[in-house]
Amino acid sequence: MSGFNGAKYCWMNGSIVETEKALVSAMEPIHLGIFEGIKAYVEGDVNGRGKQNIFAWKPHIDRLFRSAIVNGLIMPYDKEQLIEAARKTIIANNFTGNVYLQPRIWPKAGASRNNPESHIVFPAWEFNTLLGVNNQSFNKERRFMVSSWRRIASDALPPQSKSWANYANTGLAGREVSRLGYNGAILLDNRGFVSESTGACLMVVMEGKVITPPVTASILESVTRNFLLKHLPIDVNIQTEIRDLTRLDLYASEEAFLCGTGAEITPITSIDDIKIGERYPGIVTTQIQNYYSDVVSGKNDRRRLWLTPIWN
Ligand code: PMP
Repeated sequence: MSGFNGAKYCWMNGSIVETEKALVSAMEPIHLGIFEGIKAYVEGDVNGRGKQNIFAWKPHIDRLFRSAIVNGLIMPYDKEQLIEAARKTIIANNFTGNVYLQPRIWPKAGASRNNPESHIVFPAWEFNTLLGVNNQSFNKERRFMVSSWRRIASDALPPQSKSWANYANTGLAGREVSRLGYNGAILLDNRGFVSESTGACLMVVMEGKVITPPVTASILESVTRNFLLKHLPIDVNIQTEIRDLTRLDLYASEEAFLCGTGAEITPITSIDDIKIGERYPGIVTTQIQNYYSDVVSGKNDRRRLWLTPIWN
């Protein structure tokens, strides 16, 4: 079971099946598929056990449908059926911790424009969060490097869609920096401006303001990024700005961190061996981490609408 991260059951093509029996032919073109990464957090305590709520279901599922359009895939189920699939998967596994959900859709073998059928599998597994007060993993040193690989341009392979093919690009960057002993990569776009990391968006803090590159800098339009940009000014009194960042901006920033469903809020210690800021993790990054932790665990009443309960 360990190969499936402890997920005994998953939802596949309409029903719950044992993960070990969720089989398709090796001839299936899974590499032409798309996916989403979504998290459900335990109510009340990100480090506790209990009933989960999915964070930001709607923007994630909307993005999945947009990814399907550009990649020529037919979604085999509607959005209502997919929320039920998510619930059933978590309930079947009897998970009581935080859960990562990863719906995957790909064309059936032999599918064509005239016969555009797709497969869907909806796996889920528990994960260790970086969030929460005194979480030691949050404070770990993370040395990042600007990769020599550029982020794919949107007129070549649209980074805004979450297709597996796009991860061949970030995979090159990730392997390059890890060979050289770094913990993570930052990619520039084809113009030479900062784009994003391998599986998360990048934010920097300059004069107390959070700044992040625009969607046109070849980023995946991150749900977490959009959430923070929208709510940080109101809820935490942190101003935000969307603008192109240069490599120098990275080095000169007071703080730098990743944001994303998987990465949550991940502080960065140094970029190209240049230490970022005076203090690690930075004050603003830590404040945002606490805020995000409260929102996803249902402690922030104002943002309750971002949560979808799993259990009735
Ligand atoms: N960029 C890339 C390349 C990603 O894979 C992810 C993870 N989905 C993100 C950014 C962050 O997006 P989100 O906040 O929607 O998870």
